[in-house]
Amino acid sequence: MDKLVSLCKRKGFIFQSSGIYGGVNGCWDFGPLGVELKRNLKNDWWYNFVQVRDNMVGLDASIIMHPDVWKASGHVDAFHDIVVDCKECKKRFREDHLESKVCPECGGELTEPKQFNSMLRTQLGVSEDTAVNTYLRPETCQSIFVDFKEIYSSYRVKVPFGIAQIGKAFRNEVNPRNFIFRSREFEQMEIEFFCREESEEEWFSWWQKEIWQWYLDLGIAESKLRWYEHPKESLAHYSKRTVDVEYEFPFGWGELQGLANRGTFDLTAHSKASGKDLAFFDQEQNERYIPTVLEPSAGADRTTLAVLCEAYDEEEVPTSKEGETETRVVMRLHPKLAPIKAAVLPLVKKDGLAELAQDLEAKLRRKFPTYYDHSGAIGRRYRRQDEIGTPFCVTVDFDTKEKGTVTVRERDSMAQVTIPIEEVTAYIEKRVTLERPIG
Ligand code: ATP
Repeated sequence: MDKLVSLCKRKGFIFQSSGIYGGVNGCWDFGPLGVELKRNLKNDWWYNFVQVRDNMVGLDASIIMHPDVWKASGHVDAFHDIVVDCKECKKRFREDHLESKVCPECGGELTEPKQFNSMLRTQLGVSEDTAVNTYLRPETCQSIFVDFKEIYSSYRVKVPFGIAQIGKAFRNEVNPRNFIFRSREFEQMEIEFFCREESEEEWFSWWQKEIWQWYLDLGIAESKLRWYEHPKESLAHYSKRTVDVEYEFPFGWGELQGLANRGTFDLTAHSKASGKDLAFFDQEQNERYIPTVLEPSAGADRTTLAVLCEAYDEEEVPTSKEGETETRVVMRLHPKLAPIKAAVLPLVKKDGLAELAQDLEAKLRRKFPTYYDHSGAIGRRYRRQDEIGTPFCVTVDFDTKEKGTVTVRERDSMAQVTIPIEEVTAYIEKRVTLERPIG
């Protein structure tokens, strides 16, 4: 984990927010490579769960909502962590994260457990006395419930269907930790899927299958994934059933995504509190009812971390000196997720090779993110790309000038092929774009 965190900082994937002021606990910034990686992941999720499906639509709602939303949803009364304080060092901990009855930092005595609401408060309005107290959303889904009628009636979708949203969520986590795994500001990728109660079991199993497959398609090993079924007594206030997908991180198993059956809780609560009927009207059956909601809720940051942990690899490779080896650090990211798809490297800077390579890079850049590098030995340049997960390095050499060919080196196998320069775009594009087999 330490190696990964330091690589992320050194290469500009992810670093602490406000670093020059000492940082903010639980807040992270995604640098040039991190932003590409996370965006690729979110695009892949959207492609897979919205674009290719005829029973899914999207939403991008505001982060700040009417304060009554959080009363009706139960968050004001029930979005609590149970916390204890250390009487000696004054640190605060989530009770369910403790392994013993004493302070994990100093061994001191702990206070009695108490409730702590983890929503982040904010004020809306310019004048002190009229400003309204509200919250930064702790989950993206409430706007989907509140906008349910607006969406189904304007877009004319029928149950069963789902509404998807990717966006920021905020929680005043008691102990942000494990790099970006537990942050105070993070992104969720959520779906609220509306169906009839009698088909909830069937759809629940269907979603389990779809979710599982998505992780496999990201290149995560099945042996590092497992389901965790929440016992009835520890279910959230809205849930009839919840299962989590967990990933085996270097620090242990951790939740990537929850799949909850929220029943009719949210639509009923918002109908009651707002006085607006959020029932679905089925024209064909001439019937009005509140649909059951199944919710796959995934974290974009946690999945990014899982993908990075899964991809990080070290291997011994021979050097140019007979009998000697060196350690190659390689991020075996799925090509569709890799931040940079191809690096273009002139073998040497002189003899017009740099110009040829720059021309090629400018052309490729219009299709996918690329990187141009002419400094240092070619082997070193390959290693730099391996470390950030670039799937292809395109080397421009003397044959490029004479025969119009380039060498394409593949990251994982280090195998090289020679192809005509005009085929490079198609060769790489085919291997790095999002795709999902039909059927
Ligand atoms: P945990 O038990 O780990 O606190 P949770 O069960 O409260 O998580 P949910 O409310 O189910 O989490 O949120 C759905 C998803 O949002 C989680 O599976 C996770 O991927 C992501 N998520 C939740 N809290 C955080 C956080 N503090 N930092 C990063 N991602 C988070």
